[in-house]
Amino acid sequence: MIHFNEPPFSGKEFEYMKQTIENAHICGDGYFTRQCHAWLEERMHSPKALLTTSCTHALEMAALLLNIQPGDEVIMPSYTFASTADAFVMRGARIVFVDIRPDTMNMDENLIEGAITERTKAICVMHYAGVACEMDMIMAVARKHHLPVVEDAAQAVMSKYKGTPLGSIGDYGCFSFHETKNYSMGEGGALLIRDIENRERAEIIREKGTDRSRFWRGEVDKYTWVDFGSSYLPSDMNAAYLWAQLELADEINNRRLKLWGQYYQELKDLALQGRIELPHVPEGCEHNAHMFFIKTEDIEQRSNIISWLREQGVGAVFHYIPLHTVAAGRKYGIFHGEDRYTTRESERLLRLPLHYNIKEGDVSYVCSKLKEFYR
Ligand SMILES: *Cc1c(COP(=O)(O)O)cnc(C)c1O
Repeated sequence: MIHFNEPPFSGKEFEYMKQTIENAHICGDGYFTRQCHAWLEERMHSPKALLTTSCTHALEMAALLLNIQPGDEVIMPSYTFASTADAFVMRGARIVFVDIRPDTMNMDENLIEGAITERTKAICVMHYAGVACEMDMIMAVARKHHLPVVEDAAQAVMSKYKGTPLGSIGDYGCFSFHETKNYSMGEGGALLIRDIENRERAEIIREKGTDRSRFWRGEVDKYTWVDFGSSYLPSDMNAAYLWAQLELADEINNRRLKLWGQYYQELKDLALQGRIELPHVPEGCEHNAHMFFIKTEDIEQRSNIISWLREQGVGAVFHYIPLHTVAAGRKYGIFHGEDRYTTRESERLLRLPLHYNIKEGDVSYVCSKLKEFYR
């Protein structure tokens, strides 16, 4: 069986996790967390990075830091994971969904300004498959209307837009280190903060509303409850797992890009014959091979391919059911304008197996079975 995903494992995870136990520091903000923070700040050119218990929680922290209140509106695509919306809905916000571009499946940058009202409090973009949204235009619209931008960069660790790392362009960047992502710690994520002034408040929210982070740094001699907060910091054991991967980040990234390129080459003929569509990476976008997908004729053909591949021992999956079409999305949001592409394109998208430990032979096998289907 060729699995759709396997958790990434690079070799040193056991050793580093064992070390946390020997260090007698398994709770949050230990040695490995600090290593990960320093790496994220350096590689993402970010003034402040904090590991979190998930990307969902990083998004929740962003919503808290932005003081999102009941009745506020937040603009985002409908073609995204539930967490993108959850974080803001939990603060009482109403979600305003905007259509996507069919080529990248990212929110259409030309439709955002039309969705802004006097109640709009933030724009939240999601970089699908690690391919950047059109950030120059999005940041210009946001600045014009004095709106903060949150990047759901869950899929975009190591991706760039015109040379700038994704997650570091908006006011807040949210990464995921879930086991389905390029780099993992089981469950986990990170929040990148562009505005250094919010750094202390972010630390307080992450540490149960206390100034314990300042205490660790020796800036205060005791820590107390200073504001509201929660517990958004992961165990150092999880950070140790992640550190084993971040140390090899370039190797993992190159490996994934190679596999992605192999899919692209081997499926090019099917695309030239007009049977399928392949992913599009706009100029200026350096992606991280988070995902390889194809687009089929329609939803029925996609179902047939999934069944056919399963019979051949290949796990292929689809996502997302557009948020505005399901129960919670109808309750908490509205779709702005016309749904030209979100539903139609989401029904054609099929994800193929791609992970760090998959073999070139497996990729060839999947491609040959797809070609067989189309014969
Ligand atoms: C995976 C993912 C998330 C959630 O990440 P967790 O770390 O599991 O909370 C959020 N948004 C997008 C776009 C994702 O792909």
